[in-house]
Amino acid sequence: MMDRSTVPTANTPFGYICRRCSRCCRHKHIQLDPYEVARLARAKGESTTQFREAWTVDGQGTTLRQKEDGTCVFLGPQGCEVHADRPLVCRLYPLGRHFRKDGFEYFSISEGHPLTAGEYNKSGTIADYLEAQGTKPFITAGFPMVLLCVSKTWCHG
Ligand code: SF4
Repeated sequence: MMDRSTVPTANTPFGYICRRCSRCCRHKHIQLDPYEVARLARAKGESTTQFREAWTVDGQGTTLRQKEDGTCVFLGPQGCEVHADRPLVCRLYPLGRHFRKDGFEYFSISEGHPLTAGEYNKSGTIADYLEAQGTKPFITAGFPMVLLCVSKTWCHG
C-alpha cells in the first residue's frame, strides 16, 4: 500500500505555467462525463445529442474525437477552441487525479511532452493550481461518480 506521506496531495508544492504550445492536445484520451458534455454542447450552440454525434467517439459522449493526425478535434490554429469550457482532464494537466480504495485522493505529476514549452515550478500548491484552472464545478459535478468508483474499486489505488 502506498505511503500517504510520499505521494502528491492537495497541499504539495506545485505550479505550472502553460505557454500554449498545444503539445498536450495531441494523442490524448480526453474522457467526458455528462456535465462536460453539457458545457461543451452549450459552448457549441448544440443539443447534447448533436454534440455527442458530432464530436465524440462513436457518438457515445464519453471521449472526444481526434483528427486524423491525432490532434484533439477542438485544437485550432490559435489553440483550444473551447478553452472556457474545456474538460477537467485538460484543466488538470500536467496533473493526474486518483483515488485509493479508501477514498484517499492523491495526484501524479506528468513530465509532459519532451518538447513542451510549459514551465514547472513550485509557486503554490496543487490545490492552488486546481482553483486557478477552474476545476471546482467539474469536480463537484463528478463527485457522485467518484463515490461510485471508490465503492466499486474501479479507480487506481
Ligand atoms: S479540449 Fe482543448 S485543451 Fe483539451 S485536448 Fe482538446 S484542444 Fe486541448
